[in-house]
Amino acid sequence: MIFPLIGNKRVEEAVLSAISANRIPHAIIIEGEGGLGKHTLAAFIAKAAVCEGEEKPCGKCSNCHLAEVGSHPDIITVAAEKGKKSITIDAVREMRSDAYVKPHKAGKKVFIIDGADTLREDSQNALLKVLEEPPADIVFLLIAESKNRLLTTIISRCVILSLSAPERSDAAKYICEKNPQVSLDAALYALDNNFGSIGAALGDLTGKKSEIKTCAQEFLKAALIPDEWAMLSSTVKFANDRVFVDRFTLQLKLCVAEMMRKNASNVRLSRKLLRYYEYLSEAAEALKTNINLSLYFTLITSKAGEIFGG
Ligand SMILES: [Zn+2]
Repeated sequence: MIFPLIGNKRVEEAVLSAISANRIPHAIIIEGEGGLGKHTLAAFIAKAAVCEGEEKPCGKCSNCHLAEVGSHPDIITVAAEKGKKSITIDAVREMRSDAYVKPHKAGKKVFIIDGADTLREDSQNALLKVLEEPPADIVFLLIAESKNRLLTTIISRCVILSLSAPERSDAAKYICEKNPQVSLDAALYALDNNFGSIGAALGDLTGKKSEIKTCAQEFLKAALIPDEWAMLSSTVKFANDRVFVDRFTLQLKLCVAEMMRKNASNVRLSRKLLRYYEYLSEAAEALKTNINLSLYFTLITSKAGEIFGG
């Protein structure tokens, strides 16, 4: 059994000894900032909880296989619906009554509550009821950026696993092992740019970054025509992801700046590009507020139409 996170030795010891003693607590809060591996750890504990092998998680039994592909009937993830900020109280109530139904396949049933710290107080109280008298064979895994946003009555009924960023050099080595094409220097640089978060650094170093760059290039190409429909469709895949939208905006600014350099002799185009660059800087500020993302895309698209169409 290989623990999936690096660093975090105390968490590793606590989790592995609970699993090997067959005593996974019925409620666990996994807290830590984005990119530290909260979901990875939750998936590991969930798999161990449903595994029927000797050394859990064995990775060989049918329960492990179903858990790995994300379709185990006794591992239920509850998260906010797309576009919503938090899990609804109805979803909590539904989970609560489901918790009293016996597991379908495994010996245990696991609920992963993703974004537990975004639950409103009434929803937290609804959750509390089941934490106070937990049915047998149930494991609740509450994923939170910070446990401090949870009611103390909830915290007191949970075991807390706090994740922290591993040592910079360990994190860099880990990234290079997983991605042999990445150099140690590039890994360290990406970690420094992402406050030591492995997940975010990997995002920069691997596919997502180039994918976002491609989208930004397509968007700008459509903007110069201007073709508003093509602009909007190039951004569809990011429409609901605020972190990606931040990075997309940054990439788009870089693309605009590059095009300005390449077309320095074309005064008319350069001026338009500069205007759009300045507009995007303002728009990036708006992203820090809670602007609706589809409204955001509509705004940057219609502004491009106005500047490059005029
Ligand atoms: Zn197994």
